[in-house]
Amino acid sequence: MIHDVIVIGAGFAGLSAALALRDAGLEVLVLEARQRVGGRVESRIDGLGDRYDSGGQFLCEDMPQVMALAFRHGKTLVPAPTDGAFTLQPSMSEEDGEALWLASFAIRERMNAIDPADPAIRDLSVADWLARQPDAADAKSAFRSTIEGLWCQPLDAVPLWYLVDNDRRITNEVSELQYFPGETMHRLAEDLAAGLGDRIRLSTPVTEIRREESGVVVVTPAGPFQALHVVVAVPPVTASRIAFSPPLPAQLAGALGAWRCGTVIKMRLRYARAFWRDEGRNGMVLWRDIHGLFACDTSRDDGHTILTVFAGGPLALRLRALGADGMRAEVLDRLVAALGTDARDVLDFAARDWSDEPWSGGGYSDSVADFSAQDAEAVLRAGASPIHFACSELSLSFPGYVEGAIVSGRRAAEAVCDMFDLPVGLDPLG
Ligand SMILES: Cc1cc2nc3c(=O)[nH]c(=O)nc-3n(C[C@H](O)[C@H](O)[C@H](O)COP(=O)(O)OP(=O)(O)OC[C@H]3O[C@@H](n4cnc5c(N)ncnc54)[C@H](O)[C@@H]3O)c2cc1C
Repeated sequence: MIHDVIVIGAGFAGLSAALALRDAGLEVLVLEARQRVGGRVESRIDGLGDRYDSGGQFLCEDMPQVMALAFRHGKTLVPAPTDGAFTLQPSMSEEDGEALWLASFAIRERMNAIDPADPAIRDLSVADWLARQPDAADAKSAFRSTIEGLWCQPLDAVPLWYLVDNDRRITNEVSELQYFPGETMHRLAEDLAAGLGDRIRLSTPVTEIRREESGVVVVTPAGPFQALHVVVAVPPVTASRIAFSPPLPAQLAGALGAWRCGTVIKMRLRYARAFWRDEGRNGMVLWRDIHGLFACDTSRDDGHTILTVFAGGPLALRLRALGADGMRAEVLDRLVAALGTDARDVLDFAARDWSDEPWSGGGYSDSVADFSAQDAEAVLRAGASPIHFACSELSLSFPGYVEGAIVSGRRAAEAVCDMFDLPVGLDPLG
């Protein structure tokens, strides 16, 4: 059988592409390497039997596509608890903390005012640029912590033009941690997959894409599949591991090879009660003496009291090297210093290390690491029909987020529909 379109990957990009293609009337098959859908959105069961998001989790009202999907599929949007004061560690007065936060934010705004296309910054890393800024050391340190925590890369590996271009597309005015689905974000991915029924084949990793006169042959351990078009809905570094024959045009191969995986560990600590609220704290902790570490309260009002802790960038690699016990001990010590000795009375501690995920490459996202690859994203977005690319990294809005994955998947579906002279799907929200 020759399918109209094969979509590789059942993350939010692949699922969104497949639903739009289905709604446009095309015959679509999704091939997913893992035994589950969702990609970088996944859920696990904690030691007390509660299902939780160990990958992507949060959304906010400035992210229209994922919000619409959550409503459409009846998800309960739990507001992340924010009442109270955030905690800076080592501690400082609330006033000084506010001033530091504003100073760090001002550096980010100054950075985003730079023209990413300015040839003068082409070879400059974010670290180089930061070193030249006149700001106080603690403001620069807070900025570094934010950027390493969000982009999960060492600053000397990130081209300044890339960060500016990327950050400008993350346009939320409310906190990106505003809500999380009570049923898990992963359940939303499963809802989308349910709409595709047996059009999804799990545990079917694609190893090779062969281009032929009549379309493509997609090779998997379960055998080859044929289609007129293929949407490669996997992150760039992971996509670069698929063999293409004949080889991709040099410009496209170069664009795929320009990326580097982020490193992140997401930890979930379950407590009997939200002891941090006793002292008027909201559970959010920002560390000044260690870059890329961040904690926030993700409790639900059904009695589940949770702190979620993220370690991004070089810190994730250092914590990983400590082993499971060492990582837990360091994180608990730091939480005790920040929130008090009750932080040690954890009912359940789970750490999900995304640093070397075989099918996602890392987290939260891949970033362009080749300073000369300013056209990498545009080249991948253009693809080489019948081969098309999608993934959150390529999105024109909210790259690196679930929202971006949905937008990118739908854009790739539109490109394929154009090839069939079809309007894009009638019901893209699936
Ligand atoms: C720890 C963590 C926390 C995050 N938190 C948030 C958050 O709170 N909010 C938010 O908006 N975003 C968050 N993100 C980012 C968000 O999860 C991702 O941007 C988004 O899910 C990416 O979707 P995608 O479809 O582009 O890629 P993926 O989700 O990576 O999907 C790619 C799919 O392709 C499959 N695949 C790969 N290679 C092959 C192959 N050869 N053959 C077949 N299948 C293959 C993979 O198994 C995967 O299912 C987080 C990410 C991580 C890791």
